[in-house]
Amino acid sequence: MEHLLSGMHQFQSQVFQRERDFFDKLVAGQSPSALFVTCSDSRVDPNLITQSGPGELFVLRNAGNIVPAYGASNGGEAATIEYAVAALSVRDIVICGHSRCGAVQALLQPEKAAALPLVSRWLRHAETTRRIIAENYTHATGDALVEIAVQEHVLVQIENIQTHPAVAVKLQRGELTLHAWVYHLETGEVLAYSHKDCRFEPLNAANSATTARRVIDNPMLRK
Ligand SMILES: [Zn+2]
Repeated sequence: MEHLLSGMHQFQSQVFQRERDFFDKLVAGQSPSALFVTCSDSRVDPNLITQSGPGELFVLRNAGNIVPAYGASNGGEAATIEYAVAALSVRDIVICGHSRCGAVQALLQPEKAAALPLVSRWLRHAETTRRIIAENYTHATGDALVEIAVQEHVLVQIENIQTHPAVAVKLQRGELTLHAWVYHLETGEVLAYSHKDCRFEPLNAANSATTARRVIDNPMLRK
């Protein structure tokens, strides 16, 4: 805890004072351009990997970057999505999974979370991912299995978020764009789902947007 306290002190005494004008502007209100949905994993830092600052991202985090379908869980997730889209009018929603995700691994091996009843219950919102992997990727194993599960899981959340009325309305008006990303802890690279090629590819301006779920073109997929 000590290093957190000293960091806080340093922020207040140095950074905040130096950037006073910037922080004064934030007091007046927020106008983030994107809702960024990602995992609670401490190794994933939305602001760091997008090189953005305070006020730019409205962030929703939970174990496994899960977006429960509308009505499935009337918790903070749905309220955060509604607020971001309907009140703050974000133009983009990024759903960003990550490599070596513990929640996705627990989804593949439920016994790992057996002693964690609340985690197990939460992961039930990801049953679609579990089933897609169990039934369609019978040939995949090890790290390759986790990687494809992380990717499919992000696409399932892209589908789920479209069941939220506030999102559906803005998508229909063309005022909102969805992005399916996977961040790699090993390389710092972000892969984005390419609609055109039906697979995750290194992120660039052309392939970032996705509008709906499509099948991943993966050789491990059961034919
Ligand atoms: Zn994770």
